[in-house]
Amino acid sequence: MRCAVCGMDYGLSHNCSGIAPLPTDQETAPPPVGFSPGYYLRLAFNILRWDDIAIRRVSRDSNAIYYGAFLWIVAATIVLIGTALPQMLAAIHVSGPAMVIGVIVGMCVGLAVVAILTFIQLGLCAISLPSGSSAAPEAIWA
Ligand SMILES: [Zn+2]
Repeated sequence: MRCAVCGMDYGLSHNCSGIAPLPTDQETAPPPVGFSPGYYLRLAFNILRWDDIAIRRVSRDSNAIYYGAFLWIVAATIVLIGTALPQMLAAIHVSGPAMVIGVIVGMCVGLAVVAILTFIQLGLCAISLPSGSSAAPEAIWA
């Protein structure tokens, strides 16, 4: 790839020594106030498409972590319902409130395990940055 700022050819990332262009009005617009899940869902889909503006906007928005955590919990719960819940129900040999409590505790443990695995996965991604790059990941993505 070629850097749009300094013109240098690079592989996956590089530490740019050029002066970054000024952010646009779209990028610096303040995030919406109050409860706005639609905005953050749209931002999440734009991040999935590697939209640079969405990535930089979310990096400056302190509320984005809560919406992101909620989206992660929903996605992980869907995965657990599809994979672990049938096995959990087959393993639990009680009925009534005890089964419900067992499923809730099992799902919480499952979410914790998936959270740890996700943390390890993201940690390995951060460790495996190119060796010539000493910048923090957010500086490389910006
Ligand atoms: Zn550059």
